[in-house]
Amino acid sequence: MPGTSHSFELYPPRTARSAAALPAALEALAATGPEYFSVTYGASGSSTEASFDLVRQVADRTDVDVMAHLTCSCASVAGTAQLVRRLLDAGASRFLAVRGDPVEGATAGGLRSAAELVQLIHRVQAERATWGRRLPGPAGVGGTGPSRARVAVAAFVNGHPDSRGRTDHLDALLAKQIAGADLAITQLFFHPEDYAAFVDRARRWGITIPIVPGVLPVTSPARLTRMLELSGEDEPNDLAIALEVEPTDEGRHEIGVAHAARFAQALLDAGAPALHLYTFNRADAVVAVLERLGLAPAPIKETT
Ligand code: FAD
Repeated sequence: MPGTSHSFELYPPRTARSAAALPAALEALAATGPEYFSVTYGASGSSTEASFDLVRQVADRTDVDVMAHLTCSCASVAGTAQLVRRLLDAGASRFLAVRGDPVEGATAGGLRSAAELVQLIHRVQAERATWGRRLPGPAGVGGTGPSRARVAVAAFVNGHPDSRGRTDHLDALLAKQIAGADLAITQLFFHPEDYAAFVDRARRWGITIPIVPGVLPVTSPARLTRMLELSGEDEPNDLAIALEVEPTDEGRHEIGVAHAARFAQALLDAGAPALHLYTFNRADAVVAVLERLGLAPAPIKETT
């Protein structure tokens, strides 16, 4: 589907080995022409420096926009504002504002919801724009000020585990839109028909921002189990059985890629404006999915 954009989620590598493998993955992912890379952020603030390093690394190594995730975490309002400034300085040109899940033993931060964080990000940017405004004086002196970073938020196709009622997650998404969110990216889900139903409900709720589905090629039974635990989604039986009975890694890779490509195509057919691919810092599976969808240049075959 020419014209459909895609983006990739990365996380700060946790081992020296995965850090060493990252530049090659970044290069392969950047070659597919993504709209942006998003970089996750630990809820407790535990990954702060590693997230900054990765934002900087992506900004330095590629021409692709960087979307920095930021949580309400345990920082004060002033501390979170300072993080926004540092992320802008590190090269982030977009944000994903999420609440983060409460961390056991940690004291609550100054912000209580993602909607408040969206407001804070815009406030920090407004302050910076004031300082960047062109001063009167000789031609060429001063600047036009930084352009405004877009702010994305999380959406939950089948509701959020904290929802007390069936529509709490729609109220929360509407609140985030009113606070200034430009875009929503969904939590993982496994049944494509749920997407169209959710977008339809959201539109009737007054939510007008684009809702981009998150897609993960699941290439092992262990990863599927973990993703179901994290998302609270129902198991996709066909995928679970196929992965369980397949004896080889190559076979499981093919099953995961083929399933994700069918899933993504169904989402595009249902009107998805773009795809956000969860990479786990690896290029092979997500690039294969994009190739099958005709959204990435096919690999050049050796002819010797
Ligand atoms: P909010 O929008 O603030 O609210 C979450 C839910 O709580 C709402 O949907 C609603 O059901 C309920 N709720 C909120 N306010 C109210 C209210 N006033 N009354 C009633 N109910 C209410 N976590 C990280 O730690 N780091 C990351 O980098 C990260 N990246 C993510 C990326 C994506 C695309 C997604 C989908 C999630 C990500 N998360 C990340 C996870 C996220 O932090 C958790 O899912 C968290 O539990 C909810 O965050 P939120 O921004 O949706 O919160």
